[in-house]
Amino acid sequence: MSTEMALREGALRCNLLVSSRHFYKFISCIGVRSVSDKVSSKTVTSGDPETAGDHLIYTQEHFALKESLRKIIDQEINPHVDQWEAERKFPAHKIFKILGSAGFLGVSKPVEYGGLGLDFSYSVAVAEELGNIRCGGIPMAIGVQSDMATPALARFGSAELKKEFLLPSIMGDKVACLGVSEVGAGSDVSSIKTKAVREGDEYVINGGKMWTTSGTQADWICLLANTSDGPPHRNKSLFCLPMNLPGVHVARKIDKLGMWSSDTAELFFDDVRVPCKNIIGQEGMGFTYQMLQFQEERLWAVANILTMMDNIIQETIQYTRQRKIFKQSVLYHQSVHFRLAELQTEVELLRSLLYRATALYIKGNDVTRLASMAKLKGGRLAREVGDSCLQFWGGMGFTSDVLVSRFYRDSRLISIGAGADEVMLGIICKYMDTLPKK
Ligand SMILES: Cc1cc2nc3c(=O)[nH]c(=O)nc-3n(C[C@H](O)[C@H](O)[C@H](O)COP(=O)(O)OP(=O)(O)OC[C@H]3O[C@@H](n4cnc5c(N)ncnc54)[C@H](O)[C@@H]3O)c2cc1C
Repeated sequence: MSTEMALREGALRCNLLVSSRHFYKFISCIGVRSVSDKVSSKTVTSGDPETAGDHLIYTQEHFALKESLRKIIDQEINPHVDQWEAERKFPAHKIFKILGSAGFLGVSKPVEYGGLGLDFSYSVAVAEELGNIRCGGIPMAIGVQSDMATPALARFGSAELKKEFLLPSIMGDKVACLGVSEVGAGSDVSSIKTKAVREGDEYVINGGKMWTTSGTQADWICLLANTSDGPPHRNKSLFCLPMNLPGVHVARKIDKLGMWSSDTAELFFDDVRVPCKNIIGQEGMGFTYQMLQFQEERLWAVANILTMMDNIIQETIQYTRQRKIFKQSVLYHQSVHFRLAELQTEVELLRSLLYRATALYIKGNDVTRLASMAKLKGGRLAREVGDSCLQFWGGMGFTSDVLVSRFYRDSRLISIGAGADEVMLGIICKYMDTLPKK
């Protein structure tokens, strides 16, 4: 597709979004206000202050976007979640096409490549809304597609690469995955072993990746590999690698504790030849690009888990209110009531940190520290919400019939990643000077 066609299609999709999903006055009519406009604008108070004009970072356009997405979630995703959880896989191509056609896979990506060209606060709004999907696996895979495997490509990739990989990923025609972690390197990204050795106009790639989300159905992988023997933070490069190249092997689909509807793969690369033009940005900058890419991943993950925690707390309040023990609702036993109030308070505190980090990020600030802190806290809080709420559901919580048991399993993953955020807080200060300035 030519750039002009992509532009036209992007604009068309915006207009379709406006008309078909009541996304009124969006881009085509009044334009989209930035968060900085929002922060400085006079506040309007009527009804719920957070939805009627007084929200810290969201405008009415953000809420309209969320509402449009909610309809897709309710109609196209949630009715099938139980089946996909049981099958241990959801149909990524089908769901991404639906989301891509409506513009949700490239909200903050350039219009030139099919995105909506909005600032990252809109991606945060989308991530929050995706938290209404009744499992963790599908939102995670959507997040990998929209905000984890593609930010570096969108920012540093050549026009040719963006046309080949970014545009179809935003449109939902290609499924993307992210290959950073390996059997011997997860939190410590710098110690990956996969190698890409230059031979003429090609790189020859050998190694393997572990725990790759969507790895069994992806069309391409954003792959981190060592391209020299230099210092570990300056010897890596990111590649766009088609998954159908000779030598790319899906070794196995990994069985997991949670996130069941998302497939997770172990991959091997055996003398995979990829053209040099498939490198994203500059050779040797892969670690830095990946660290930048992690910023959006962290903010996205926090926004997503916030809604899930909200939903779990609300469902727990409803269940414990009607469940009577010793002649009164479980909810009105003081320790239960206090604990739920405390958890909801912590959720709100985390939300404030997320919005603060987002507001700073879209103004061009480096928010590595705040984003890492938010994700660290998000992981721990999700685990606490899962633990406490599961307990309050009694035997019912131990069954597969209720969302709380799924959340209990799925939310463990955020905590696993959180260790890496502690590491980040330490190492980022050390390597801050290698990050490109805005
Ligand atoms: C379902 C699932 C999907 C995933 N999807 C992807 C994907 O799409 N792409 C990808 O590249 N990776 C993916 N991963 C991998 C994930 O990013 C890693 O598992 C994570 O970074 C942790 O790395 P590790 O498993 O090697 O743990 P390790 O690095 O071995 O760490 C072990 C434990 O130590 C803790 N820890 C780490 N550092 C410290 C510290 N300094 N102090 C104290 N504790 C610490 C961690 O919390 C962790 O629990 C996925 C993993 C899972 C389970």
